[in-house]
Amino acid sequence: MPRVAFIGLGRMGHGMAGRYLDAGFTVALWNRSRAKAKDLIARGAHWATSPEDAAIDAEAVVTMVADDAASRTVWLGKNGAATTMKTGTLAIECSTVSYRHALDMSRELHDLGLTYIDCPVTGLPDAAAGGKLTLLVGAAPADLEQARPFLEPLATTIRHFGPVGAGTVYKLINNLMGAIQIAGIAEGLAIAEQAGLDMKLVLEAIESGVAASPQVIRHSRRMAARNFTGATFTAALRHKDAAYAVALAESLLSDTPLMGRAAVEVYARARAVAPDDDEGKMIEIVSRPKAVTT
Ligand code: NAP
Repeated sequence: MPRVAFIGLGRMGHGMAGRYLDAGFTVALWNRSRAKAKDLIARGAHWATSPEDAAIDAEAVVTMVADDAASRTVWLGKNGAATTMKTGTLAIECSTVSYRHALDMSRELHDLGLTYIDCPVTGLPDAAAGGKLTLLVGAAPADLEQARPFLEPLATTIRHFGPVGAGTVYKLINNLMGAIQIAGIAEGLAIAEQAGLDMKLVLEAIESGVAASPQVIRHSRRMAARNFTGATFTAALRHKDAAYAVALAESLLSDTPLMGRAAVEVYARARAVAPDDDEGKMIEIVSRPKAVTT
């Protein structure tokens, strides 16, 4: 059976690790906090004491952690996976990281004899648990073929955008456009509420109008109802992705990325108030505070 080490058992990683168990892989796990691994261990996964311990026998190491700093820690930190990975082992980065970080990791891990591919994903935690993600791959074609058996349990679609870093470029523009749309719907709904419109009618009109997108449809009703339960994507992660995308834009575009900058600014405010809450709370950031009645 293929042997995989999986690192990072948050909302996304927990479900992804479970897919390897479903597929019959031998799975070694590590997460910063062990509690999230409990049910996966009961299903047959081996708990490792560190990323380097998880990686010892792995043919591929897959990571799904928060950001650049977490990624660097689990690959190249004191007990990082690279310490024990054998020459030629696959290093598959599924976390959303910055473009610069993807290139740095590729170079640094390559210098250690490892094969890095960037493989950020689209899809929510339920898609991760169901093996229905879309993978956005940046890799040399031969490396992608080597990695394919470790990607297929996770996904219904694998899109190969080009060399290492290309998957991350697409992921960052995708999430920047999402950030702008979500901030836009929050602002639009807040204006409609303040102007006293019938919000039921507003929601019906939005959903059948040209401004609708899957992103807008997913968030508008929840925002209008101020229903932020079951957070799937947090303000902190959305801010991180928008900031990484703007850094990339600044290196590629001749003019200031105006929309992106506005998104970073407004998500920084959301992150400061409630980093772990659902990104849809953006409507509370842009709404006028309710008058206090005594
Ligand atoms: P999450 O639930 O917040 O989980 C974050 C994971 O990173 C946890 O395993 C956490 O460990 C680990 N982590 C954070 N800082 C760390 C550090 N310094 N050292 C080691 N581990 C660290 O996030 P998520 O929603 O699963 O997202 C994971 C990645 O997928 C992110 O890059 C995100 O942008 C991307 N993504 C998310 C979604 C989504 O819908 N949620 C969709 C597509 C892509 P602990 O458990 O110990 O905190």
